[in-house]
Amino acid sequence: MQFELDKLIRPNIKNLTPYSSARHEFTGKASVFLDANENASGSPLADKFNRYPDPLQWQLKFQLAKIKGVPAENIFVGNGSDEVIDLAYRIFCNPGKDNVIICPPTYGMYEVSGNINDVEIKKVNLTTDFQLDVEGILDAVDSNTKLLFICSPNNPTGNDMDREAVEILLNNFPGIVIIDEAYINYSKQKTFIQELTEYPNLIVMQTLSKAWGLAALRLGLCYASLDIIDLFNKVKPPYNINDASQQLGVEALQNINQVNEWIKEVVVQKEILIEELKQLSFVEKIFPSDANFILVKVKDANNLYNHLSGHEVIVRNRSKDVHCANCLRITIGTKDENSILINLLRSYER
Ligand SMILES: *Cc1c(COP(=O)(O)O)cnc(C)c1O
Repeated sequence: MQFELDKLIRPNIKNLTPYSSARHEFTGKASVFLDANENASGSPLADKFNRYPDPLQWQLKFQLAKIKGVPAENIFVGNGSDEVIDLAYRIFCNPGKDNVIICPPTYGMYEVSGNINDVEIKKVNLTTDFQLDVEGILDAVDSNTKLLFICSPNNPTGNDMDREAVEILLNNFPGIVIIDEAYINYSKQKTFIQELTEYPNLIVMQTLSKAWGLAALRLGLCYASLDIIDLFNKVKPPYNINDASQQLGVEALQNINQVNEWIKEVVVQKEILIEELKQLSFVEKIFPSDANFILVKVKDANNLYNHLSGHEVIVRNRSKDVHCANCLRITIGTKDENSILINLLRSYER
């Protein structure tokens, strides 16, 4: 299948002259910056942050490139993955005309962002074992279908998508395939970021919000071809990542050993929690998890949710999602937090 990126881009974006910021126009060596109307004297914060940040976050990207084994030029950083999702809609989808495919039960922002952008959402549910319905997806494609969202490991179900199914879709879906790997650090699956040269229609999303522990900094990562990254850079707000987040992100990325320890610990704690859950009579099914949470089917999810929240333990009630009747999604916490949860579950049984 011949892939033509040009045909997928919205005409207004293809023809867009992007905003040219002060930090963009001059990149050589200089010592006096009178080009951006900043406060040259400093700031109340120890004279930090008075200058506009690097619009392209190169330091952060060079660090990421080293860790991920992907050239820095193939990385885009968004203000959380949610910005990446929104930009994909705005670059590729004509409001009121185009459509995208999502595979419920899955991450809620794909649909919300589509609704915000007035883009039709076609839903092709996962199978009952939470795998991709490849045929159903390809059947749902029409001439206005621009994006396909695949979440692997999937939220809220926790499982990896079968790799061959994803590859079939990468080879046959006529639009852009966005693989959301927010939980890839917990998965035994290999990331798709090494496959960018093979698939010009691939966008991979990751995030520093989960395993990396930086949810508050809002650093969403996106990997794609140079042409697609160019489009994201053209459409994003000029200074989408603030300097505090850039600096702290760079600092955090030096602590990969600590993060890998935490990942191992989550896997251990997850196994302990699963063993405990198996003992409980009201637990009907524990779905296999390749993430830092587990989806659990219970006898009366609403009632259990109320019991837990009544004792200040909050989980996510996913009962209204397709294939998820009476299911709670439980994040793996610290050892102590998990003990509190387990004790509450035991007291609920009595
Ligand atoms: C948590 C999560 C994200 C992360 O979003 P950020 O905006 O980067 O914090 C993205 N995708 C999925 C599926 C998630 O569960």
